[in-house]
Amino acid sequence: MALQVELIPTGEIIRVVHPHRPCKLALGSDGVRVTMESTLTARDRVGVQDFVLLENFTSEAAFIENLRRRFRENLIYTYIGPVLVSVNPYRDLQIYSQQHMERYRGVSFYKVPPHLFAVADTVYRALRTERRDQAVMISGESGAGKTEATKRLLQFYAETCPAPERGGAVRDRLLQSNPVLEAFGNAKTLRNDNSSRFGKYMDVQFDFKGAPVGGHILSYLLEKSRVVHQNHGERNFHVFYQLLEGGEEEMLRRLGLERNPQSYLYLVKGQCAKVSSINDKSDWKVVRKALTVIDFTEDEVEDLLSIVASVLHLGNIHFAADEESNAQVTTENQLKYLTRLLGVEGLTLREALTHRKIIAKGEELLSPLNLEQAAYARDALAKAVYSRTFTWLVGKINRSLASKDAESPSWRSTTVLGLLDIYGFEVFQHNSFEQFCINYCNEKLQQLFIELTLKSEQEEYEAEGIAWEPVQYFNNKIICDLVEEKFKGIISILVSAWLLPRPRLPLPITPRHKLADQPTRKSLGRGEFRLLHYAGEVTYSVTGFLDKNNDLLFRNLKETMCSSQNPIMSQCFDRSELSDKKRPETVATQFKMSLLQLVEILKSKEPAYIRCIKPNDSKQPGRFDEVLIRHQVKYLGLMENLRVRRAGFAYRRKYEAFLQRYKSLCPDTWPTWAGRPQDGVAVLIRHLGYKPEEYKMGRTKIFIRFPKTLFATEDALEV
Ligand code: ATP
Ligand code: MG
Repeated sequence: MALQVELIPTGEIIRVVHPHRPCKLALGSDGVRVTMESTLTARDRVGVQDFVLLENFTSEAAFIENLRRRFRENLIYTYIGPVLVSVNPYRDLQIYSQQHMERYRGVSFYKVPPHLFAVADTVYRALRTERRDQAVMISGESGAGKTEATKRLLQFYAETCPAPERGGAVRDRLLQSNPVLEAFGNAKTLRNDNSSRFGKYMDVQFDFKGAPVGGHILSYLLEKSRVVHQNHGERNFHVFYQLLEGGEEEMLRRLGLERNPQSYLYLVKGQCAKVSSINDKSDWKVVRKALTVIDFTEDEVEDLLSIVASVLHLGNIHFAADEESNAQVTTENQLKYLTRLLGVEGLTLREALTHRKIIAKGEELLSPLNLEQAAYARDALAKAVYSRTFTWLVGKINRSLASKDAESPSWRSTTVLGLLDIYGFEVFQHNSFEQFCINYCNEKLQQLFIELTLKSEQEEYEAEGIAWEPVQYFNNKIICDLVEEKFKGIISILVSAWLLPRPRLPLPITPRHKLADQPTRKSLGRGEFRLLHYAGEVTYSVTGFLDKNNDLLFRNLKETMCSSQNPIMSQCFDRSELSDKKRPETVATQFKMSLLQLVEILKSKEPAYIRCIKPNDSKQPGRFDEVLIRHQVKYLGLMENLRVRRAGFAYRRKYEAFLQRYKSLCPDTWPTWAGRPQDGVAVLIRHLGYKPEEYKMGRTKIFIRFPKTLFATEDALEV
C-alpha cells in the first residue's frame, strides 16, 4: 500500500504527516537528511508515558485516549507520577524475560519506559538504601491482571536479588506457595478463568544484604459460598478438578472418588467442568510438587486430600423425609467415606447432619431437621470445612516461609516488602453481602491511598522547601464511618439485628447519615440500601445478609468436627468455640478487624501502587472497550489521583538529571557545567526563557508546572 504523506516545509525542518505513523525529518547542517522520531510525533502516536504530562489533565476523554493510543501499540504501562497503570493485554507480550529484568535493574525510573519491573526495582532499591519497609498495592477488577502482576514481581525478586547465605530454599517456597494457594483459592468465573476468590497480602522479608529470607501471607475473606454453589459458566475451586483429573488411580480409590466431575453435585452446578484455557492434569502435577517444596509430608498431603474428597462426598449426601417430615440420610456410601476421611464416628455424623442440638436451661435437646434445614446444615459444614482448611493451609505455608533466622540478631535488621493483591470494587445487577464487604475494603484502601498520596506530595514539597498548595479532594471517610462506626455503623447494626427476634428482614437501617444529595434516583426496593461509594452508587439487597454474616454452623456439627481424627481438621475445629460464654465474631466484624489491621500494616510502609485495568469482557487481546475502561478509571479513582498529583506541578526532576538531559540547549551548560547542578539549571532555563510562573526551584529538584513547558524543551532537543 502506498503511503500518503504530506510535506510541509517549516524552515529547515520538513514534517512528514502520515495519518497513522507521524514522524519528522530534519535536514542536517551539512545538507544530509537525518531521520528521527521526535517526542512530539511519538506523543501523537503512543501518547504520553505519564498522565501528568497530559495538557488537559482533568479530561477523562483525554485520559482514555492516551490509554488507547498506548494500548494500540502494545504499551500496557503508563504512570501517574509514581503510580503504575497497567492494561491487561490478554496476550504474551514477551516483556518479562531475563533481559527485561536486567534492563530495569538498578536503573532510574525515568530513564526507561514505564514497566512493572521499573516499579519493582524502585521499590527494592528504596528498601535497600533507605531501609524502609515497602508495600506494593495492586488493585483492579476481576481479570485486570493483579495476580499476574504479583507473580511477575515475585519472579523479579527471586531472579534479581542475591541469594541468602542460609536457607536458600525460601525463594522456591515463595514462588511455590502460589500454585497451592491458587489451587485452593482460585476458580474459573465468568470474568476470569483463574479468578482469585480471596484477598492476599504477602510480606517478603529481606536480610541486610537484600536477599529474601522469609515471607508471610495474610488472606482475606475466601468466597466459601462457591464450595456449594456456582453460577452457570463458573466452576468450584480448581483443586477439586485437579485432583479428579490428575490424581493417581490408587489415591482416588482410597479417597472413594470417581474421575468424572459430573458425579459430584458440588461440581455440576456451573456446568463447565472443562475449561479450554486450563489443564487440570498438568496443574495438578505442579501443585503436588509445590506441596513438597512447602514442606508437606506425605501424611499431610493425604490428610489434606482427604478433606478435599470429603467435601465432594458431603455434596452428594442426600436426605429423604420420614413420616414426620424429618430428614434422614439416604446415601450410606457417602456417609461411610466421610466417616473414614474425616475420622469421625458414623453415628455422630449422621445425627449431626439431621438434628440440631439446642441447649436450654442447661439441658441438651436434639431437634430433628426437615429436608431444607438438613441441606442447609450439610452445606454449612462443607463451607466451614473447606474455608477452615484454606486458613490452615495459609498457616502451614507461613510456617514454611518463616525465616529460619528468626532468632538470630540479623533478623532484626530485616526489611519487609509487602504485596497486596486484593479484589477491586464490584457492582453487579444484584449486590449482596460479598459486594458489601469487598466495596467496604476498597473504600478503606481508597481512603488510605488518597491520604498517603497527599501526604507524600506534601512531604516532598516540604522537603524541597516549596509552599504547599492545598488540594480539594473527595474525602470518603464518611462512607467508611457509615460502615464501620461503633454502635451506629452498618456492621454494628448487622450484629445487633442478628440478636433481634425473627423475622429479621428487612434490615433496620435508619439513615442517620445522609448518603447523597442528588434529588433524582431510582427508588429503593424493599430490603435494599444504597451507599454512595467513592467509585459510584451501589444498591445492596439485604436478602441473606444476616445468614452470610453469621455463618451459622450448628453446634453438634461443630462438636463432631472437634472430635475428628484427621489432624488438619482437629486443628481447624477447636473445642473452645463450643463454649457459650464467647459469642463468635460475625464475618463482617472479623473482616473489619482484619482490614483495620491491614491498613495499619500498609501505613507503616512506603507505598507503591499498581492500578490494573481490564480492556474488555471477552478476555481478548487487542480489544479496547471504552465504556468498560471508563468505569474502571472511575472505580480506581485515577482521575482523582491525577488531579492530586497535578495540583501543583506536572513534572519534577533532580537537577543533575535535568541538566544532563537538556544541557545541549544552552551554550553555557554545554558540553559540561562545572558548578552546582542547580545553578546550571538556573542558567539553562533562563536561556530557554522559562517564565517565573512556569517553574519553582526546590532544594534538589526543579518543579515544572505545565507539561507544555517541558514539551517545548523536549522538542527543542530534536531540532
Ligand atoms: P481476579 O480479581 O479475578 O483474581 P486478577 O486481576 O487477579 O483477577 P489475573 O488472574 O491476574 O486477574 O489475570 C487474568 C488473566 O489475564 C490471566 O490469567 C492472563 O491470561 C491475563 N493477563 C493478566 N495480566 C497479563 C499480562 N501482563 N500479560 C499477559 N496476560 C495477562
Ligand atoms: Mg487474582
